[in-house]
Amino acid sequence: MFVLGCYLSQVGGYFLACIPYVLFDIIRPAFANDYKIQAKTYPSKQQMIQSCKDMMVSFSTVVLPMLIFGGFFIERIGITRDGPIPKPLVMLIQIAYFFLVEDFLNYWFHRWLHLPWLYKHIHSVHHKYDSPFGLVAAYAHPAEVVILAIPTFVGPVAVGPHLYTLMIWQAFRNFEAIDIHSGYEFPYSLKTLFPAYAGTKHHDYHHYMHSGNFASIFTWCDRLYGTDTGYRTYEARRREKEE
Ligand SMILES: [Zn+2]
Ligand SMILES: [Zn+2]
Repeated sequence: MFVLGCYLSQVGGYFLACIPYVLFDIIRPAFANDYKIQAKTYPSKQQMIQSCKDMMVSFSTVVLPMLIFGGFFIERIGITRDGPIPKPLVMLIQIAYFFLVEDFLNYWFHRWLHLPWLYKHIHSVHHKYDSPFGLVAAYAHPAEVVILAIPTFVGPVAVGPHLYTLMIWQAFRNFEAIDIHSGYEFPYSLKTLFPAYAGTKHHDYHHYMHSGNFASIFTWCDRLYGTDTGYRTYEARRREKEE
């Protein structure tokens, strides 16, 4: 029953978080159009409907079995809903740590998924759209969904947080994934609060070029390993044209 609750909140949270972007793509209000990264490249209604169907298949055939499997051993590694709910500061520190671990491991897992064989047989599914939109944030080959769950859960497995902290972390991670695939970077983006946050433009470039900018949360790894050189040149040229 609890697994079912987790599953329904994941699915519901995912589609709810996508609603504003779906409306922007359908209604195309002027204020949102100004912040569309790949101008005039909107998903069609058929693509949006197909994405909803694809995501429901992925949620029910991959995510649900993973939740059922996880439910069996989660308490054994110290993740439980027993005991007092942690203080907000404790939750915040743990979630910040999970983001750092996820960012580093996801960078490398994602970079390896761009090796020719892995890209051809697995990761190309996620790269179906050169101009991504919110609904396809978690659209990927089933093997990739499983592989990229590892960076998401290494931090929690190491710390053994309260179950509610784990659920909040997962919700934040889903919202972040939807944000960077949304196709829009608004002035109130998280990037204005955290300059190291990669943001939508950063990952949108990765989909557009099919290369570079492998990190999905922060800019540190791409800067450190030199995989953002093309993006920085591209952005510098774009800014020059605007001036
Ligand atoms: Zn990729
Ligand atoms: Zn992506």
